[in-house]
Amino acid sequence: MQFRDLNAQYLHLREKIDAGIASVLGTGHFILGEQVRELEGKLAAYVGTKHCVACANGTDALQLVMMSWGIGPGDAVFTSDFTFFASAGTVSILGATPVLVDIDPQTFNICPDALEKAIQKVLAEGKLIPRVIIPVDLFGLPADYPRIEKIAEKYQMRILEDGAQGFGGAIDGKRACSYGEAATTSFFPAKPLGCYGDGGAIFTDDDALEIHLRSIQRQGASPVDKYDNQLIGMNSRLDTLQAAILLPKLEAFEEYEMDAANQVASWYTQRLQGLVETPVVPEGYLSAWAQYTIKLKDQAARDGLKEYLMEQGIPSMIYYPRGLHQQTAYLDMGLKDEEFPHTIDAIRRVLSLPMHPYLQEEDVARVCDAVIAYLKE
Ligand SMILES: *Cc1c(COP(=O)(O)O)cnc(C)c1O
Repeated sequence: MQFRDLNAQYLHLREKIDAGIASVLGTGHFILGEQVRELEGKLAAYVGTKHCVACANGTDALQLVMMSWGIGPGDAVFTSDFTFFASAGTVSILGATPVLVDIDPQTFNICPDALEKAIQKVLAEGKLIPRVIIPVDLFGLPADYPRIEKIAEKYQMRILEDGAQGFGGAIDGKRACSYGEAATTSFFPAKPLGCYGDGGAIFTDDDALEIHLRSIQRQGASPVDKYDNQLIGMNSRLDTLQAAILLPKLEAFEEYEMDAANQVASWYTQRLQGLVETPVVPEGYLSAWAQYTIKLKDQAARDGLKEYLMEQGIPSMIYYPRGLHQQTAYLDMGLKDEEFPHTIDAIRRVLSLPMHPYLQEEDVARVCDAVIAYLKE
């Protein structure tokens, strides 16, 4: 059994993917070929934003948006302590200060109450200006945008949605990657919508931001004369080959993969509910199920289960084994574990089980039987 079976997906879509690759090889337009524009249009339509700007990866996507907004030294950017490093690393690379916030223990997403307290603390200290909130749609579940939007409005801050894991999710039908002034996603192969290499995208309704992003992703080139560099930018584009691979994958994603992933999640929950803590999906929310993450009673039980599953040939992963405040690169911030009680609890007790749309009911039953057998011991 595989944790995320990319080969099963390839076998399903092989003809279309191979034809897409062949068509790019035939035209020779490897950079900014027509498939990139076609994909951007389809992604924006799916998510429900006016614009989509494809780029090299989900990390660049975050950085490009903050560069466009002029985020830098003296600015405070608030994000979750329990996420992939890029959500904060992109803030640091611009010279701004990431302010790490504890999570909601139910959803694993940034806790709105803790967020507001963190903003008030920064204001009281008076050294940094609160500018941006980066909520992360962890494990595929959209963050609490209804409450985060109110906080952003109250403190006049921007929201940048990190939808790297959230693409495909929704709240009351409004899709992930359409929240905030801009949102980003990643097409890293194991994400809900993945390509065969690195890729990413930015979503926004802001016309001026879109034009600015298209310039700074191409060395700050002028829209009319590409050898006149008007701004300092990056080189961050999505390959035409990756766009051609993503086109049939997006079709499958819309047509059945999201439904299939939700079916897999409900098979897990039916079998595991009451035995371990199963993922919470609040009323009106739809998860993209980037991960199916359970919580055991303590660290010993979690580590034991991981070991036991491995012996049974079942892979599982610990997302994440540490909070961002515990990363070596951030130890100099001097943050204490006590400031992040829910992150600390999660890193000790979480375990992510095999999850992808091509998992069969008998596979889920096998995983769950192994979990149940372990718990009986
Ligand atoms: C994967 C991920 C990213 C970065 O995406 P890359 O394409 O790997 O650069 C950013 N944020 C979160 C939450 C992620 O999971």
